[in-house]
Amino acid sequence: SLPLSAIDPDVASAVDAELHRQQSTLEMIASENFAPAAVMEAQGSVLTNKYAEGYPGRRYYGGCEHVDVIEQLAVDRVKELFGAEAANVQPHSGAQANAAAMFALLEPGDTVLGLDLAHGGHLTHGMRLNYSGRLYHVVPYQVRESDLRIDMDEVERLALAHRPKMIVAGWSAHPRRLDFAAFRRIADEVGAYLMVDMAHFAGLVAAGLHPNPVPYADVVTTTTHKTLGGPRGGVILSRAGLAKKINSAVFPGQQGGPLEHVIAAKAVSFKVAAGEEFQERQQRTLDGARILAGRLLADDVAEAGITVLTGGTEVHLVLVDLRNSALDGQQAEDRLHRIGITVNRNAVPFDPRPPMVSSGLRIGTPALATRGFGAGEFREVADIIALALKDELTDERATVLRGRVTALAEKFPLYADRNGCAG
Ligand code: PLP
Repeated sequence: SLPLSAIDPDVASAVDAELHRQQSTLEMIASENFAPAAVMEAQGSVLTNKYAEGYPGRRYYGGCEHVDVIEQLAVDRVKELFGAEAANVQPHSGAQANAAAMFALLEPGDTVLGLDLAHGGHLTHGMRLNYSGRLYHVVPYQVRESDLRIDMDEVERLALAHRPKMIVAGWSAHPRRLDFAAFRRIADEVGAYLMVDMAHFAGLVAAGLHPNPVPYADVVTTTTHKTLGGPRGGVILSRAGLAKKINSAVFPGQQGGPLEHVIAAKAVSFKVAAGEEFQERQQRTLDGARILAGRLLADDVAEAGITVLTGGTEVHLVLVDLRNSALDGQQAEDRLHRIGITVNRNAVPFDPRPPMVSSGLRIGTPALATRGFGAGEFREVADIIALALKDELTDERATVLRGRVTALAEKFPLYADRNGCAG
């Protein structure tokens, strides 16, 4: 059969251009990572052809003997990795994992407490236009204005006032660890389910470098492609007693045929995540974020009105606060893009600017840690970012900083022996 470049040169050339972009720039979007070649090999395999509605041993299609082995491996490995009693590895994405977990445990109209999107929550935690905000009665909690941390007294006050059926803990843009024990206590006080969405920090948990929510929560959802470094997808972990409800909410409740090629890639990534190398990589991820926060808190950056939300980080990302800077989020994102560093602008809590512009940047270290960056390289990239943001970026300065970015990118070749497609 013909290669992609012969059948569809338009798609092939865009894929190759994307490979070149990933190789030649520094990826610092906090939710991104570089999947190992083995993960992409599994995902690009013949499993893409297979229908397998149902679960291992109980399928609605013939010929599932091999995908059963694969899906069972994925389930067993992820349970072991996080110490969970039950796992469903079929959700196509993090959003679908959350939708299915809520579908399993809630009725339309039930009350849900979730972190406000504008304060670092995710769309699926109750944003107005999202299914979560449309199907359920959502009461958002926020961070405290004084220190931008989640105020557990406020969570408790809202829980007692609104008696939610579920409390969602988790975030897309928050630089601090959550107090899972306090969330559990409050959930018990009002008889609510506790769902933790660990999509962002699952890799840190797997490495033992972040508290594990599994012992505290009724349900834990995650994506597999962020710090975890696997294929794009979702997983739901739960107590054994909820497994039946959750399985039935995923299939037939929400999805048809599972993506067995992605499930195979998930299985591979769980095996990788159980290893020592992965643990060491997550440590470099955390160290890199601390180094970046430290540089962006230095006096020369502060003079430009730029600071770091909460004064630091305990995870894999730093939130840059531009509320007192002449730069807005869009301009800052564009500046870094110009010198070859990819980040995303992000609203900060109590942001005076509109969301499309915003007053923040979210900068993450997982992808660069995967690429091999250690403390020295993170110090260099932190300095480049500080210099790009604090003073006007003339063409001359941009050229110098782009040169420093290129030197770092060349020091850590990415997918060196691949083309953008097959391998
Ligand atoms: N949950 C959290 C906390 C997230 O940050 C994200 C993605 O950004 C998701 C869920 C959704 O994942 P996906 O994009 O795979 O639907």
